[in-house]
Amino acid sequence: MSSALVFFTDLSAAPGKAQRELLTLASRFGTAVVAAATEISAEAREAIAGYGIGTALQAANPGRGFGEHELAVLDAALQHTDADLVLLGNDSFSRELGARIAVRRNAAIVTDVIDVSAELIATKDELAGSYTASAKSTTGVLIAAVKPNSIEDAPAGSAGTVQVTDLVLGDAAAPKVSIVAVEEKVASERPSLSEARVVVAGGRGVDGDFGPLEDLADALGAAIGASRAATDAGWISHDAQVGQTGVTVSPQLYISAGISGAIQQKAGMQTSKYIIAVNKDVDAPVFDIADLGIVGDLAKVLPQAAAEIRRRRA
Ligand SMILES: Cc1cc2nc3c(=O)[nH]c(=O)nc-3n(C[C@H](O)[C@H](O)[C@H](O)COP(=O)(O)OP(=O)(O)OC[C@H]3O[C@@H](n4cnc5c(N)ncnc54)[C@H](O)[C@@H]3O)c2cc1C
Repeated sequence: MSSALVFFTDLSAAPGKAQRELLTLASRFGTAVVAAATEISAEAREAIAGYGIGTALQAANPGRGFGEHELAVLDAALQHTDADLVLLGNDSFSRELGARIAVRRNAAIVTDVIDVSAELIATKDELAGSYTASAKSTTGVLIAAVKPNSIEDAPAGSAGTVQVTDLVLGDAAAPKVSIVAVEEKVASERPSLSEARVVVAGGRGVDGDFGPLEDLADALGAAIGASRAATDAGWISHDAQVGQTGVTVSPQLYISAGISGAIQQKAGMQTSKYIIAVNKDVDAPVFDIADLGIVGDLAKVLPQAAAEIRRRRA
């Protein structure tokens, strides 16, 4: 029977939905152990017990760092158990952590996992769910970063008790990098990208100038989105990336400007209710899914649209 170690960066409060899904998945294996890089709160202990898991390992958080503490805790937890499966979240921090422990332990990592079978075969989504792939580790421990909403949360029903052990971390856990300054991001007046009713998104065609998009977004009360080409170019923050490896949006109106409409971009916006595309190339794939297509230069089209919206609202 396989043994699963489920790792959480923070269990100082009651586990959230995605964490509960990981606990459900872990509880399907012969032995399941929880490890956390923080102290495990009373609410979290109760929740863990609810999944029939009786063993947990914890280590207090030394503060903000670049993941050395979490890496040391996960490494120590692996030494403490004989797990052949490690379950992690699929957020970027956890995936990076998984990659680091995989290198350290010569283990295998699979991300975007939606299930792991009793035979330790991980099923994962490919190309934004267009198809699935099954993967098995050929080199020891399987590290699986599990996507939220993939596993149905199902506590065992019979709550026992959890024995929590403090992990002792060696000097190796001491942070190699210390943060000397932190600058909080200036909060935008705009609605958040994932919740906005209107999104104005720009791509490579913006050519470094998001000014016309910001002006149109101001006129519409919209959020600003972007293609990966635009975020990779450094023209706008990575938070604004819409698509397979960015944010998924489903607004009432999505205005795509200077974006060709690659499959990875479509994966994050094609469920928008109404799509307007502005592109100077009449053959751009984005026109295949647009409700309204405007063939033209965005630098000319967007200011006209913003001016007309303001004129009508005046
Ligand atoms: C694993 C993987 C994950 C990815 N994830 C994402 C993702 O999450 N999101 C994403 O967006 N991409 C993603 N990509 C990248 C994706 O494949 C495309 O490369 C990217 O979306 C292209 O961005 P773009 O449309 O802005 O640029 P381009 O494809 O270069 O298109 C630019 C468009 O702008 C038009 N244009 C140029 N000038 C103007 C102008 N003045 N006025 C109007 N139109 C103009 C051009 O005609 C062209 O159609 C991913 C790729 C991979 C391999």
